[in-house]
Amino acid sequence: MEERKLRRIIMFPLPFLGHFNPMIQLARILHNRGFSVTILHTSFNSPVPSQYPHFTFRTIHHKNEGEEGDPLSQSNASGMDLVAFIRQLRQSYAEPFRKSLAAEVGGKEKVCCLVSDSVWARNTEVAAEEVGIRRLVLTTSGAASFRAYTAYPLLRDKEYLPIKDSRLDEPVLELPPLKVKDLPVMETSEPEELYRVVNSMVKGAKSSSGVIWNTFEDLEHMELMDFSSHFQVPIFPIGPFHKHSENSLPTIKNKEDHLTTDWLDEQEPQSVVYVSFGSLADMEEKEFLEIAWGLRNCERPFLWVVRPGLVRGAEWLESLPCGFVENIGDKGKFVKWVNQLEVLAHPAVGVFWTHCGWNSTLESISEGVPMICTPCFTDQRVNARYIVDVWEVGIMLERSKMDRKEIEKVIRSGIIGEGDGMRERCLKWKERAIVCLSQDGSSSKYLERLVSHVLSFD
Ligand code: UDP
Repeated sequence: MEERKLRRIIMFPLPFLGHFNPMIQLARILHNRGFSVTILHTSFNSPVPSQYPHFTFRTIHHKNEGEEGDPLSQSNASGMDLVAFIRQLRQSYAEPFRKSLAAEVGGKEKVCCLVSDSVWARNTEVAAEEVGIRRLVLTTSGAASFRAYTAYPLLRDKEYLPIKDSRLDEPVLELPPLKVKDLPVMETSEPEELYRVVNSMVKGAKSSSGVIWNTFEDLEHMELMDFSSHFQVPIFPIGPFHKHSENSLPTIKNKEDHLTTDWLDEQEPQSVVYVSFGSLADMEEKEFLEIAWGLRNCERPFLWVVRPGLVRGAEWLESLPCGFVENIGDKGKFVKWVNQLEVLAHPAVGVFWTHCGWNSTLESISEGVPMICTPCFTDQRVNARYIVDVWEVGIMLERSKMDRKEIEKVIRSGIIGEGDGMRERCLKWKERAIVCLSQDGSSSKYLERLVSHVLSFD
């Protein structure tokens, strides 16, 4: 073990929470297996290193930092054209990353490989080759959505992409059970750039020394096999990352967290609608108000994460009618942020109304909590279709149909409580995740393979 501590892994996360969290979880898993870890991170959305004392952090700065009009100077990317923003990130940090990586590899400790987020992939490929180290890719989305990304050229050839409104409900015959409206795209002023990013991500995975997945084999067996049949690259589905023992650390709670737990403690088991649309999605005031009225009218207790920035043009809750929050009283709770893992594990939570980000999806499945699915963009649409039609642990509430009546109907439809067996099915998936993580389970075996694979790079 001591000898292995001399082997260092460099990690390069994409600076969005849904990408950073799984990279840090992976870092803990690998650290526990005897590797030391250096996290190279962008100056944009920089983490707080003191929260992760086991790792070394190095900040990468870009050339125009601090200059007036620097598009990367804001505190987060919520509400931005994400495709344009990712282009900016990739352009701004490519060269500084090369230099930082070279400096790390030139240090006295032996670096055995780079683990980079799949979205950086082609950027990091050349840099890793130059300094002669192997590169692994972390895919923070599921295997089903990666399969759809891999199919982009075919989807364009067959004119499924760009999506036409007239074809939304058509099945994509080549990618069952997806419909045209489930394809992983997003609104952007730079559609060609979206194709470039996806193409580069797929090629970067193909040319890597291995792809690490935050998923488990039972959940996405076919999709993982599909990847392996197209790409001669070793795969390591070792998830769910957050359920590995080294990631179940007690969290430091602030006052708000305590208040949330106290409120949940007072609710009946499986009664609460937990609502969160993740760290990036945003919405119009009109949509926000429909959700608020829908939640109020269905008369169920709810816990709703209204992240500052969620409602376009608003600070927080000020668009709600006067007296709305007071009228709801203890029946509902608005918060700016929660510890989602703790909330989902609380026995009072009956259903998770989610945007179906991959982390949220896995976290909900891992706690046996069924979902109401309102995907916003990219892989969230694929995840939602799988939640509803393949794993059968949720119901769809499409964004375009999301008015207060429909919301009330869906929440009252019986998804809360035993319902039509949805919770039972979800608890089965939870058990299967636990089995995959057990000593002889697939995730544990793949982790052993990953460790041997990395050690073989010497
Ligand atoms: N999250 C959280 N508290 C919140 C909302 C989200 O801790 O109030 C975490 C959540 O547990 C998940 C991540 O933020 O790990 C969001 O990632 P996901 O892939 O679900 O969505 P994204 O934010 O990337 O759209």
